[in-house]
Amino acid sequence: MDRTAHYTYSAARYLNRLAVEIALGDMSGQPALYFSARLAYPAAEEVEVMNNSQERAKQVLQEEIKKRRGLTIQLPDRGESEEGYFFTEVERVTVIIGVRGRYALPAVRTYPKPLYAAVYAGKVWKAQIPDSNCVTGHFDPLVTTDWYCGSPDCPCKREPYEQRFKRGAQG
Ligand SMILES: [Zn+2]
Repeated sequence: MDRTAHYTYSAARYLNRLAVEIALGDMSGQPALYFSARLAYPAAEEVEVMNNSQERAKQVLQEEIKKRRGLTIQLPDRGESEEGYFFTEVERVTVIIGVRGRYALPAVRTYPKPLYAAVYAGKVWKAQIPDSNCVTGHFDPLVTTDWYCGSPDCPCKREPYEQRFKRGAQG
């Protein structure tokens, strides 16, 4: 075992021991056990956390909604798709933030200015007329992390995953 490997191994052992001690030291509640799970599986945890661009884009959107509309809101966390898109909602319309911080409205077919569309999501959604011939957009404004919307009549219900992903993320 070379020096670097040895240090890595020692650090991992130390963290595992620390996690076990914390878990044993406080058996009264879930947080200690949860903390130990985080230390044991740091890579799995990181996959589900927004990156810096997404954190920043989320803040910018909240600030713009405050500035342009005078509304103070905390954007909710609606999960993350397997491609790393962060899902949130503005006025019951799904807004997604890509890994580079780009905004998109999966349910809306076209919008020239993504930030504007996200700030006025309710209005932008209402302006859309449902059309089965379109390959982007949805019949329901809320889209889940597996790229389905809530409408049973929407074309997304008959599409495979890849097609639904394109429908939502590349609109
Ligand atoms: Zn749909």
